[in-house]
Amino acid sequence: MSELDADIEQTLISTEQIREKIGELAAQIDADYADREPMLVGVLKGAAMFMSDLARALERPSTMEFMAVSSYGSGTQSSGVVRILKDLDRDIADQDVLIVEDIIDSGLTLSWLLKNLRSRHPRSIRIVTLLRKPDALKVDISVDYVGFDIPNEFVVGYGLDYAERYRDLPYIGRLRPAVYGG
Ligand code: 5GP
Ligand code: MG
Ligand code: MG
Repeated sequence: MSELDADIEQTLISTEQIREKIGELAAQIDADYADREPMLVGVLKGAAMFMSDLARALERPSTMEFMAVSSYGSGTQSSGVVRILKDLDRDIADQDVLIVEDIIDSGLTLSWLLKNLRSRHPRSIRIVTLLRKPDALKVDISVDYVGFDIPNEFVVGYGLDYAERYRDLPYIGRLRPAVYGG
């Protein structure tokens, strides 16, 4: 229990559902990377929780890199503008990159990121996202591994924030409207 629970109107995905799903995703990834070591590239800050749980669920050894980009401000609307806030520390040439995302909404951030990372000549590049919204299906990106398809509403928890808060909730839920209204 967290004192943040009171701000959540409805739980959409429970801690247990997240745990189970990560086990399923990890099993698929282990099978697909049987002879390779994926380089997990996490997109901060949202993917931090998912990345650390996924890495521990994988039986394959993996390496971890992080990148931070901005696409949303402190509110709930996509700006459509992507900026690199923190770049990768290492060269990804000839690596089997697995981009780890928290959520794909419009898909703008990911299509920009894919183009950027592809230009660095990785050996392969795949995408795993915990959540995907229906709008994401309008952009031409093939997402290799998807945890949950969710309705088109703003969610928080398990890495996802509202104004930098709620990332530490262990489940994913919908905020009470009063929280937005102040
Ligand atoms: P996209 O570019 O696909 O529209 O959105 C990318 C980023 O926007 C995500 O990585 C995430 O940080 C943020 N985002 C999109 N939808 C949501 C949401 O429902 N809740 C939260 N907290 N962030 C979201
Ligand atoms: Mg993200
Ligand atoms: Mg955010």
